[in-house]
Amino acid sequence: MTNKIKYFIANWKMYGDLKSLKTINKVIKFSKTYKKKFKIIYCPPYTLLYSLKKLLKKSTLDLGAQNIHESLDYGPNTGFINAKMIKNSGAKFVILGHSENRALGESDMRINQKIKSAYKNKLIVIFCIGESLSEKRQKKTKIVLKRQIKNGLKNLSKKTNIIIAYEPVWSIGTGMILSNSELSENINYIKSLIYKKFKNYSILYGGSVNPKNINQINKINLLDGYLIGGASLNPKKLIDIIKKTFN
Ligand code: PEP
Repeated sequence: MTNKIKYFIANWKMYGDLKSLKTINKVIKFSKTYKKKFKIIYCPPYTLLYSLKKLLKKSTLDLGAQNIHESLDYGPNTGFINAKMIKNSGAKFVILGHSENRALGESDMRINQKIKSAYKNKLIVIFCIGESLSEKRQKKTKIVLKRQIKNGLKNLSKKTNIIIAYEPVWSIGTGMILSNSELSENINYIKSLIYKKFKNYSILYGGSVNPKNINQINKINLLDGYLIGGASLNPKKLIDIIKKTFN
């Protein structure tokens, strides 16, 4: 791990109802007693943002959304929500460029518009990048990462505070992870592309992170935290991942 603040971002994807929010109380309690430099950000479905904001009120946990529409204004976009609305819900963060949305046709250019729209509304972006299995097999990982970073982060100010989540698509929800040497190589490559562009950046890893593999991943000492999907639905697992990260 690095010396920067550690992020643990819980991506609930399309899971969760009002009842499941109660499980977060365990994590709130834990965060009050655990004296380390970390930030937990819950990104629930839109339907739970308001209730979760209330639950997190007296805690140090933060709230994020899972996507936005790029439009800065209100408009005739049935089923969509823009950055202004997310800001108004009390969320401070937003996940953009997630591979599950890229797979539905989100282009680098559109993600770039979304990122700009998020910053105009003072949201902090968790920008996801990563190669697919076929790109990995064709040894195109670096080409893909470079393209996603170049296009996705085009024309952003150097002062932008950006969180990058490196998430190999083939690792999300599959239980498969990279070897530490591959992971180190890819994280170092991302850093080499980012550090001149931005003053404030954090680089996280995401993809099947769980209490069983976290010790191994932590060994690379290059990460500023994790974006966690499946395991974040279980408070015990999330707490375990955080504790093991600091041990
Ligand atoms: C994710 O959805 O960003 C993710 C990393 O999921 P999982 O941890 O379930 O692989």
